[in-house]
Amino acid sequence: MSAPTILERLEILADAAKYDASCASSGTAKRNSTGGKGVGSTEGMGICHAYAPDGRCISLLKILLTNHCVFDCHYCINRKSSNVRRARFTPQDVVDLTLSFYRRNYIEGLFLSSGIVKSSNHTMEQLVEVARILREEHDFRGYIHLKTIPDADPELVAQAGLFADRLSINVELPTVAGLTRLAPDKSAQRIETAMGEVKGEIIDNKDARKRYRSAPRFAPAGQSTQMIVGADAASDADIVGKSSRLYGAFGLRRVYYSAFSPIPDASAVLPLKRPPLIREHRLYQSDWLMRFYGYAADEVVQATDASGMLPLDIDPKLAWALRFRERFPVDVNRAPREALLRVPGLGVRAVDAILRGRRHRTLQLDDVARLTVSIAKLRPFLIAADWRPLALIDSANLRDRLNPRRAEQLELFAA
Ligand code: SF4
Repeated sequence: MSAPTILERLEILADAAKYDASCASSGTAKRNSTGGKGVGSTEGMGICHAYAPDGRCISLLKILLTNHCVFDCHYCINRKSSNVRRARFTPQDVVDLTLSFYRRNYIEGLFLSSGIVKSSNHTMEQLVEVARILREEHDFRGYIHLKTIPDADPELVAQAGLFADRLSINVELPTVAGLTRLAPDKSAQRIETAMGEVKGEIIDNKDARKRYRSAPRFAPAGQSTQMIVGADAASDADIVGKSSRLYGAFGLRRVYYSAFSPIPDASAVLPLKRPPLIREHRLYQSDWLMRFYGYAADEVVQATDASGMLPLDIDPKLAWALRFRERFPVDVNRAPREALLRVPGLGVRAVDAILRGRRHRTLQLDDVARLTVSIAKLRPFLIAADWRPLALIDSANLRDRLNPRRAEQLELFAA
């Protein structure tokens, strides 16, 4: 049988990478090649060429170096015991593909991960080599996100951070019990140790750059991680608690949530059905509440039901407001920023516009309406110069009034 062509390998290794959601180019250093210096840019848009299983479009060349793997994680299509077609690239293959895709303006950068071949160190060396050749031999200035191998030598991870914009280490599952059961070759302790090492390098690098402006940058877009949702019994409360801890302990830029997708030839220990995609969406919303709206993790957990699950039919901010109605209504002309951020339907930008606007005049309901998609959702929760909700906030059917759609309808998105 003839060896697969580069296109055949690309087809296999791009498809194998689609289960990884953890890529976004936010927060990186600004570099560009205007003036004919170097190749590529972290600014501007490329064409999205990588797709997550739910169809989300990602504007990076997202591939695996290889889908051969010596590990046997049950949820992974590339695990050792899977019957999937295998392929591998050399580092030079990935460099050539990245540059040719970039020059055609198909992509704005590279997201590179890999199955583990031979050893963690061997695999990590190959990943680092791709980034090194791109940066040092081609002066590539586009975005590079490298997935790092937790068991690899910290020295290799330190090298990776000198070439990549972002490093990520997948925490994989929200609980140690889930990881032990579904990824028996991986160690929760080792994963968190590796995250701590990356955090240490980032802090040291910031310190060095304060003292020496010429010090090379280390992973300027920080580190991120990904958690699989719905492959084990972890509740949303477990996931929110884990994320909060990871943000606090390791200074992560992002935690990505990836709804478990049943894979062909799946292991018997996995659920047969994927969780509703709306669950993944609710977790992203709760993540935003913690990062931008001032909610502590235990406050988000207060929005969950007795089994620790967030409601699917309403967003977590509204669920929290309905549970703590005594905190409302909030006066748009007097309330502090923190209280306004708790009003369902008011985003960060709208709150900041309210704070600016009320310096000059007393705000009416119409002024707030101009800042939001739907004033109906806000009415019970706020007071304006010409509006007071009276008993609306206490009405028994407020939840139904604010949410005429039923959870079953939302399930339509979970096909
Ligand atoms: S280490 Fe586990 S998750 Fe990663 S490619 Fe191998 S089997 Fe898949």
